[in-house]
Amino acid sequence: MDLDLDERTTAFRDEVRAWLAENVPKRPLASFDTAEGFEQHRRWEAKLADARLSVVSWPREYGGRDASLLEWVLFEEEYYAAGAPGRVGQNGIFMLAPTLFSHGTPEQRKRILPAMARGEQVWAQAWSEPEAGSDIAALRSTATRTDGGWLLSGQKVWSSRATYADRAFGLFRSDQDSERHRGLTYVMFDLRADGVRVRPIPQLDGEPGFAEIFLDEVFVPDADVIGEPGEGWRVAMTTANNERGLSLRSPGRFLAAADRLVRLWRETHGDTETALAARVADAWIQARAYQLYTFGTVTRLAEGGELGPESSVNKLFWSHLDVGLHETALELLGPDAELSGKTGWPEGWLFSLAGPIYGGTDQIQRNVVAERLLGLPRGQR
Ligand SMILES: Cc1cc2nc3c(=O)[nH]c(=O)nc-3n(C[C@H](O)[C@H](O)[C@H](O)COP(=O)(O)OP(=O)(O)OC[C@H]3O[C@@H](n4cnc5c(N)ncnc54)[C@H](O)[C@@H]3O)c2cc1C
Repeated sequence: MDLDLDERTTAFRDEVRAWLAENVPKRPLASFDTAEGFEQHRRWEAKLADARLSVVSWPREYGGRDASLLEWVLFEEEYYAAGAPGRVGQNGIFMLAPTLFSHGTPEQRKRILPAMARGEQVWAQAWSEPEAGSDIAALRSTATRTDGGWLLSGQKVWSSRATYADRAFGLFRSDQDSERHRGLTYVMFDLRADGVRVRPIPQLDGEPGFAEIFLDEVFVPDADVIGEPGEGWRVAMTTANNERGLSLRSPGRFLAAADRLVRLWRETHGDTETALAARVADAWIQARAYQLYTFGTVTRLAEGGELGPESSVNKLFWSHLDVGLHETALELLGPDAELSGKTGWPEGWLFSLAGPIYGGTDQIQRNVVAERLLGLPRGQR
């Protein structure tokens, strides 16, 4: 692709930059793992939506502005550089929405996407189950046919922000005689429906960042099934490839963190040459490499390509970049690192440790790379 931006793209980037400079809250919002912070973030989503900046790459009819994927990448760069709040709507916006664009009906898109874009409906991902995390095809929650829809039963776990979210999307076994990837159905359900119990799971900081979801014959209408019943695995792969390959973690996040790391280096070490200087430079170069790789991905998609198993390479790369970058920051801060709460580095480091787990663990991504990209023999299961 041509890395010189055209006039339209430059104007878009400048508009985003100016709006963020004017509107990003001066004081950080409370954590969206708290009831108060969740509502503050919901209001922030509405404010972004009023400026048509919450889902820039979506079509206008759903609240977007038809921005290209390249413009979305640039939007994200500006967003993180401005230190804007984390996106409480991210599971819906970056995982469910691409799935609906690929497999949803026009009615589903019209009903669901505008409310998602405004933060009026915040979505949780209900995939993982006890005994079915990496091996998601081992899931046991069921969808049983009933008049006009399905009855969901079973248990989900590790559902981020489900404590406060409104609705969830997940996979259920709809053919009880099926095995593994077959006979699964992709369903959306209301977290406040009869038969749903959400039990918060406190994190290390005591806040309920996750929840378990218990379902007891929860009715969902046929209109809330995405794709064909029994074809849930295929639909789910769209979600997973988006999560790993592009949408969930844009380069903007790492470019902004790498710039902050360089500033931290200057503040703490001046211009002295130590082994840490090389690590700071490495982190910056990796963030920039990820940006260039993503430009390649969006060019490929714009030309009609699809996200495939190479998404796993992407996921491995950004999750390790994040850990290395934050570890370097803590070393720059030295023994005071854990006390430097206001800098955000210790919290960022704790969260970076989850990167090689959520969205599919490292080991699983490496299996995908080995078997599906390199053609190596299938590992033992
Ligand atoms: C911060 C965070 C947020 C999350 N948010 C959500 C969410 O919103 N919704 C949701 O549904 N889930 C969520 N998860 C759950 C996450 O997707 C799972 O933790 C992940 O898929 C791993 O599953 P598991 O924890 O059951 O581990 P297991 O699958 O039990 O794996 C344990 C270890 O064994 C390894 N392993 C397992 N099978 C193999 C194999 N075949 N080959 C090699 N190694 C193997 C794994 O790589 C791992 O190291 C989140 C997790 C985290 C940390």
